[in-house]
Amino acid sequence: MQVFMQVAGSQKLSHNNSLLARFDPRQRAWLEVNSYAIESNARKLNEFIGPQCDLMAVVKADGYGHGAETVAKAALLGGAKSLGVATLQEGIELRNAGLSCQILVLGNLTNANELAACLHSDLIPTLSTIREALLCENLAEGYGKKFNVHLKVDTGMTRLGCDFSDALQLYRSIGQLENIHLEGIYSHLAFADGDLKGEGAYVTELQQSRFEILIRELAHEKESLCFHLANSAGTLRSSSLHYDMVRVGLSLYGENPLTDYSLDFSLQQAMSVKARVTLLRTVPAGIGVGYGHTFKTQRKTRLAVVGIGYADGVSRGLSGKICALHKGNYLPQVGSIAMDQLVLDITENPEIQVGEIVTLLGKDGDASINTRTWSDISGSIPWEVLCGFKHRLPRVVV
Ligand SMILES: *Cc1c(COP(=O)(O)O)cnc(C)c1O
Repeated sequence: MQVFMQVAGSQKLSHNNSLLARFDPRQRAWLEVNSYAIESNARKLNEFIGPQCDLMAVVKADGYGHGAETVAKAALLGGAKSLGVATLQEGIELRNAGLSCQILVLGNLTNANELAACLHSDLIPTLSTIREALLCENLAEGYGKKFNVHLKVDTGMTRLGCDFSDALQLYRSIGQLENIHLEGIYSHLAFADGDLKGEGAYVTELQQSRFEILIRELAHEKESLCFHLANSAGTLRSSSLHYDMVRVGLSLYGENPLTDYSLDFSLQQAMSVKARVTLLRTVPAGIGVGYGHTFKTQRKTRLAVVGIGYADGVSRGLSGKICALHKGNYLPQVGSIAMDQLVLDITENPEIQVGEIVTLLGKDGDASINTRTWSDISGSIPWEVLCGFKHRLPRVVV
């Protein structure tokens, strides 16, 4: 079998290579990133939004934990036109990785140093104030180079962006600046998750109506401006939110943020979390397991110790509430999740051997565990689960 894999952006290694045994990162615990799933999700999302609308792949936070470079390349192959990052550093790293498409920095850059680096690396900053615009103008003039920027307008998120009531004035002021090329105007939806009934529906409608007021006011410039509003939830919820571009993060990674809405197409979870069984134990009934003995065996119990813990990103709050998969069977995790290991009750699956692989997130056989399962248990959201895996876990691209 020829399995090619890539370790954290390094060169391709062949599974047949005898040297590989020493370098195979799949020893204790690892993240498997299915780049084909990302490409295929991008392709489906791209088909869904249609040819009038562009797909921006949001790859901030190291591609939601999958590895930004891997995700960016896969998404572009799947038809994404541009990339969104949160920080300057993230943008520069993608440029260093050789990506040449448009990259929008979604976070705010506040000082001249940051903006100069942005200009240098051809990254597009997000502006919320005239102060930032003037900094950009000065830099652009100094370097003799046009500065491409997007203006952000707050339509109801109350975070980044200028006040909605100031937007047209700010737009005109920026228009006076000779070295700035305003390419896009955008806003961000305050509701990104769950079911968008009640307040979510109301606020989204309000944000949309404000955004459309802007579009109407700027109708004469419509051709030269890129208007964008939707995150994954907005994109999947309604084509009326698509405009010229959508900025898609979560659904690119295979998760539908809308819990009340099933899609006409399927998305594929790109991330799996796997670990090996490092030790097997058989203990009698009435024995406390792990820190604090939070689990006590009720019967003679077969236990498997697995080499993954909260220092890898398996949150301690999940203790006793999750399962791992082995050949499609669910193995309950018991006791407190420790820093480096956790314990499974495998009494029902005693055939499991040391060194075998269990799946904590992702598909195994006919069964699968998704990020929503974990986030529901821990009172979190799928976004945080994805971003929660630490760099101690090698990323293996398959
Ligand atoms: C993170 C982010 C997105 C992507 O959101 P998802 O819900 O993950 O699709 C879009 N736009 C902005 C401004 C963001 O910060």
